Amino acid sequence: MVTDSFRSVVLHDELCKGCTNCVKRCPTEAIRVRDGKAHIIKSRCIDCGECIRACPERAKTAIVDPLSAMEDFDYTIALPAPALYGQFSGLKDASLVLEGLRRMGFDQAFEVAAAAERVSALIAEYLRRPDIPRPAISSACPAIVRLISLRFPSLVSHVIPIYSPMQYAALWAKRLAARETGLPAERIGAFFISPCPAKVRAVRHSVTSRNDVDGVFSIRDVYPKLLPHVMGLIKRPPEERIRCAGAAGIGWCSAGGEASAVDNPHFVAADGIDGSIRLLEDIEDGRLPDDVEFVELGACSGGCVGGVLTVESPFVAHSRVVSLMRAAREAQLPAVPIPDPPAEAFWDSPLSANTEVLQLDSDIGKAIAKRRELERIEASLYGMDCGACGAPTCRALAEDIVRGFATEDLCIYRIKERLQALIEAQAVAAEPETL
Ligand code: SF4
Ligand code: SF4
Repeated sequence: MVTDSFRSVVLHDELCKGCTNCVKRCPTEAIRVRDGKAHIIKSRCIDCGECIRACPERAKTAIVDPLSAMEDFDYTIALPAPALYGQFSGLKDASLVLEGLRRMGFDQAFEVAAAAERVSALIAEYLRRPDIPRPAISSACPAIVRLISLRFPSLVSHVIPIYSPMQYAALWAKRLAARETGLPAERIGAFFISPCPAKVRAVRHSVTSRNDVDGVFSIRDVYPKLLPHVMGLIKRPPEERIRCAGAAGIGWCSAGGEASAVDNPHFVAADGIDGSIRLLEDIEDGRLPDDVEFVELGACSGGCVGGVLTVESPFVAHSRVVSLMRAAREAQLPAVPIPDPPAEAFWDSPLSANTEVLQLDSDIGKAIAKRRELERIEASLYGMDCGACGAPTCRALAEDIVRGFATEDLCIYRIKERLQALIEAQAVAAEPETL
């Protein structure tokens, strides 16, 4: 069911020790620790997964679909993210993973990497248009798209309104399967095998009105079931290979891979949430060279191979992906036949800014008054950004106070100040009176 209230990243209250590690890492200041437990402000969360990485207690996890969701359909299609290939040691042929997925129980596997090649060509064509805001920013990472809508509203028109490879693959895989089987589209289930929680949210609440992905499984859940099948096939002779995506599509899962597949020399790429925010700030402040046409951003370090729902280290996975790309180039297999892009491959409406979440009040006059009050409170605090109050910064605590969610008593320096004053007052009161 499509609903914007859904967030993939959730907290397991009973495991949280209130250490504030996650509070400090959240890029949208969406976490507070209150009464010794973390709380996620859902409207601010972009499902980037940073808090899952930061939590030493494993108190944060991602909601994904259970593998049993396949039972709801008559025909099932696996849509493996290219990052899945990087999880297997010694893989020189992506077709083993596709065959493994079929042996695991899917009726068919349709490569998202193959769709990525088509999407790359669409982006290259889009970049040639004279009327688009520059630089154009990739829309492939849903966490980045939500980050832009929340924190960089002036850049929403720069986001490329083209389907992600996941959406494109689902659209075509279901259309082709319906033709092949004669089944109605609603009896065919397309399941993306995801490296990250942001894709789960992107499916449950798509930025476009159309959504052909019926569920999202994590690489972590699929990998243990798929591994024995892939290992059983690893010695299969090369002549039994089937057509697979080429190096360009496979490379999308590593940082810089999308830009390389789009093949526009005027690009800049950043990976990881901090690097991506820095680059967005540079674009917003006009600090990027004028000739930059395309910007690739990804919330995970190293690209999708760094997603929190993978099993392998991003560094190891990256090197495996590079080997697989080399093997794909050497094999020179013909391209996977995917029909030309349909009109639906473009978003039906542009990305909109989500500014209400950060507004202090819907009434402009009240918002200005609250901003002044926030600044007064912030100036009165100690500026240590220690996080002991459960907010990420002193400014965030001041904002919580203005919004009525916190009081100054949460500041330990304020408490110390008051205790000191109390001790001094008691000392004065205890002094013997002198004549
Ligand atoms: S998933 Fe990202 S945005 Fe959401 S609470 Fe965690 S760190 Fe913050
Ligand atoms: S990192 Fe966050 S969720 Fe994990 S124990 Fe610390 S406060 Fe709780």
